[in-house]
Amino acid sequence: MKLAQGTTVIRNGQLITGTGAGPIRDAALVIQDGKIAYAGPVAGAPPIPPDAQRVDARGGTIMPGLVEAHFHPTYFNVAALEDLDIKYPVEYVTLLAAANARLALECGYTAARSGGSLFNIDVWLKRAIEDDIFIGPRLAASGREICGVGGLMDWNPDYRKIGMEGLVLLVNGPDEARAAVRKLVKDGVEWVKTYPTGDAAAPDTNDHHTLCMTFEEMHACVATAHNHNLKVTGHCRATEGIKNALRAGYDTLEHGTFMDQKALDLLLERNTPVVPALQFEYASIVHGPEIGMPERVVDGHKETLEGGADSARMILKAGGRLGMGGDYGFAWNPHGTYAKELTFFVRHVGFSPLDTITCATKTGAEILERDKEIGTLEPGKLADVLVVDGDVLADISLLEDRSRFIAVMQGGIVKAGALRP
Ligand SMILES: [Zn+2]
Repeated sequence: MKLAQGTTVIRNGQLITGTGAGPIRDAALVIQDGKIAYAGPVAGAPPIPPDAQRVDARGGTIMPGLVEAHFHPTYFNVAALEDLDIKYPVEYVTLLAAANARLALECGYTAARSGGSLFNIDVWLKRAIEDDIFIGPRLAASGREICGVGGLMDWNPDYRKIGMEGLVLLVNGPDEARAAVRKLVKDGVEWVKTYPTGDAAAPDTNDHHTLCMTFEEMHACVATAHNHNLKVTGHCRATEGIKNALRAGYDTLEHGTFMDQKALDLLLERNTPVVPALQFEYASIVHGPEIGMPERVVDGHKETLEGGADSARMILKAGGRLGMGGDYGFAWNPHGTYAKELTFFVRHVGFSPLDTITCATKTGAEILERDKEIGTLEPGKLADVLVVDGDVLADISLLEDRSRFIAVMQGGIVKAGALRP
């Protein structure tokens, strides 16, 4: 991805560095050749060359670009789960994924980790973004997800004879789990996304208290992935599935819904980040009935929302790490509404706006293992910056409103927002 050339200075706003420190009022951010040269009070800024590009933050906020830690570029706002896999051919879904990536960047998300993709579209989408063919978040790719046979993602009945080739690799036993990870190694992914547990979406055979993989299968995934320098995450709702994942050496947990004290202890010992994705549950409860979601599914989402919110509060209080990401790409939780996750954490979970932003920037970059390059506004890092017209600490929901974005920058280049050339 190209870097800006020359000097840019952003002034007339409060600076949120993303480190967790409080805002710096009347700040300056100086960018030199795409990297941050200075981030601090305007009074301490270095002399600015006369030919520097100047950005006026209009008394608003200068902050790091957001990181969407659970992004499904190939989910095209489907109303039915099975549409994820078979509604369109891979060629068309690739184009939809490119449009979703562009939208995510326009929404202020300068980096994202894929939580799973149709085939390995995200691997090539990442390449196209890196090569400046499309605009989109700096991406970490996951390709196809792994689930046990008969588990949450194995929804096509055998008589249809269509398998789950595009979306999920189905495994029976540790040997097949190993083989699936090896296939992903060849596909070029960085993350292996697995399904240790079920979900409220499948109340009959794979509800949120069900396990969809054995410990042995999960451990085989981790051993194989780590050997090839890949990382492993998993959809973990049931308490036992969370513990299995932590004991197997998972690098992050998705959802981490029903934590108990023992699970929390294991989590803190390993300092494993969790991405709760709660707005999805909330949206399912609010909009599910309108689209014919069965009552027991909605009830299940209520239970997972409550469990997930309790666990998130527990983790934050204990000093654990949380990323912000939201499983966007369903009809009731569409792409383009990613920052609703942050609003939900402030309004309904009780996080402070500053903590929420730290989760969505610094911790997001840590999850991507790119925290030396991105995630906070500190000298030497890439200038992935979001400039917002307004005080996001007073009203976090400003981040949902793209019309308030003055600039979305990657490497100091304005890619979206009012100042986009
Ligand atoms: Zn997901």
